Amino acid sequence: MKTQLLPATSEALALAARLLTDGQLVAFPTETVYGLGAHAMDAQAVRGIFEAKGRPGDNPLIVHIHDRSQLDAICTVNDAAIRLMDAFWPGPLTIILPRKAAVPDAVTAGLDTVAVRMPSHPVALALLQACNLPIAAPSANRSGKPSPTSARHVFDDMDGRIPLILDGGESDVGLESTVISMVGERPCILRPGGVTQAMLEAVVGPVDLAGSILRPLEKGEKALSPGMMYKHYSPDGQVTLIEGSERAVVQALRRLHSHASGEGHRACVMCFTEHVEALRDCHPHDIGSKDDPTEVAHRLFATLRALDEEKMDVIFSEVVPPEGVGLAVMNRLGRAAAFRTVRAEDVE
Ligand code: AMP
Ligand code: MG
Repeated sequence: MKTQLLPATSEALALAARLLTDGQLVAFPTETVYGLGAHAMDAQAVRGIFEAKGRPGDNPLIVHIHDRSQLDAICTVNDAAIRLMDAFWPGPLTIILPRKAAVPDAVTAGLDTVAVRMPSHPVALALLQACNLPIAAPSANRSGKPSPTSARHVFDDMDGRIPLILDGGESDVGLESTVISMVGERPCILRPGGVTQAMLEAVVGPVDLAGSILRPLEKGEKALSPGMMYKHYSPDGQVTLIEGSERAVVQALRRLHSHASGEGHRACVMCFTEHVEALRDCHPHDIGSKDDPTEVAHRLFATLRALDEEKMDVIFSEVVPPEGVGLAVMNRLGRAAAFRTVRAEDVE
């Protein structure tokens, strides 16, 4: 299959809408990451997403809408969920609600719940309006790879697998949406993102955090959100996270890099802008300012992809405090590193 990569003009949007209506796949920009969309009520079309991504069938998809009236056919809403929609839609918040029967099992991975979101990216909204369909869309990467934050990333993963990629520039947030479940007794964040726990609590009161956000699932522990089970977001090289005081971390990064290169590895470091100069001999990748977790979120996936392009096999990374947007960053970075962490003070 030939894959077209087109700027999101009105002609390209019309073509995309036709393809989606016809049961085909289209990748499109959102404010979080690029999505790979299919007509959400067409089970055959939805199965195409799993095939193109190589995604396990038990990992459900998010249904994207442009108008709340579309929800009637998809899920049962409740008052607290409506307050969240009022506060954060359109935007990077996905809400888990009880599903309606018309939603194909392929979308929900057979669960009795469904994930819904109204994106704020103008191209995503224009596409949803043009086809006037609910669109099921996960991130447009091959399963296990970092999510795409540019059309080029999508092309690298999906060339030959889908007919059309709409180019709408770089994604703004850079990490996937916050996923909150509104089906239990208390709201629970299943996946942290740009909409933080504090922002959610200001609207609906106390919100729980799923246990596995900053650690792997324990043996026998049930995944609340199926995506949590898999190794995720990982580059080909081995990532190790370095924790500790600022000075000790910079020194440890230097030592670890020097050891690894001495052993013949293609080694590099992921560090804050403030440390690039001190680490200039360590092949530094600038992940943004240490005082700006939003910038780190914005750059993270593009950095992980650049490491693959440079064929790095050993990567040492700084970490951010796991608070606010930093929690979302550490949720992804932790999985990229398979939770391998070293204390800087312990590095000889
Ligand atoms: P992606 O944006 O590609 O990471 O895929 C959508 C993610 O939304 C999944 O990995 C799950 O974490 C989450 N999700 C979707 N539907 C549900 C659901 N019904 N219950 C829990 N989590 C869900
Ligand atoms: Mg994904």
